[in-house]
Amino acid sequence: MSRTEAPPLPEPLRVPVADSHTHLDMQDGTVEEGLARAAAVNVTTVVQVGCDVKGSRWAAKTAAAHPNVHAAVALHPNEAPRIVHGDPEGWSRQGAREAGGSAALHDALAEIDALAALDHVRGVGETGLDYFRTGPEGMAAQEESFRAHIEIAKRHGKALVIHDREAHADVLRVLAEAGAPERTVFHCYSGDAEMARVCARAGYFMSFAGNVTFKNAQPLRDALAVAPVELVLVETDAPFLTPAPFRGRPNAPYLIPVTLRAMAAVKGLEEDVLAAAIADNTARAFDY
Ligand SMILES: [Zn+2]
Ligand SMILES: [Zn+2]
Repeated sequence: MSRTEAPPLPEPLRVPVADSHTHLDMQDGTVEEGLARAAAVNVTTVVQVGCDVKGSRWAAKTAAAHPNVHAAVALHPNEAPRIVHGDPEGWSRQGAREAGGSAALHDALAEIDALAALDHVRGVGETGLDYFRTGPEGMAAQEESFRAHIEIAKRHGKALVIHDREAHADVLRVLAEAGAPERTVFHCYSGDAEMARVCARAGYFMSFAGNVTFKNAQPLRDALAVAPVELVLVETDAPFLTPAPFRGRPNAPYLIPVTLRAMAAVKGLEEDVLAAAIADNTARAFDY
């Protein structure tokens, strides 16, 4: 078996759940194949997340075409500085050059704002701060973009989906300063137990991805252990973060049961009990 081969279908869940964060547009095969494979193991709903204007339009269109796909739309925290600085990898180098950095960001945000108004768009994100991929020169643009997304989420009454990579304190600070939307989800939760207590007090949802199964992820399991069950979600962030023992191979929504079972063990809960709670929490978070 090759390391790049797709992992086998896990034993189906008995209680249907949602993958709260996935990128179908970055996965192998068609959307229909991906959804069918997921449904075969009782992962019946997915939140499709856009990372730039093009991806967000695609997410909205895909959600409109599939009743069990919900969309989240945003400029990824690593995308915002590219738009402002006109990086060649950015989606609109031309636009950035012509309009000037912040004006280009403003235009892109206006597109996200328009998409966020659509009924099948249930979330604004992934937005937030990423100090791992973006250096100090991009921090101001990231924070400006993050604050704009918070405002968009609140104005449209949509969930805010946070991407927080090595930026815990500043993400919490901006949320507190700007005032978090009623429903806020930390996608691929990466804080420790202490931060989980802070999130719990604020009522933030914590969505755990496949990395919670990694051998070196004890701090993440400690965080999951203290996170109130009514605030816990599960996600793949596929094609990234494939759960153990399939690390390094392609991830997809049908692998949710692998992560959910590992989470049930951490929480000391029956698989069905955790699945039912997560199904309920995801529907509450994204208001569908
Ligand atoms: Zn992310
Ligand atoms: Zn993501």
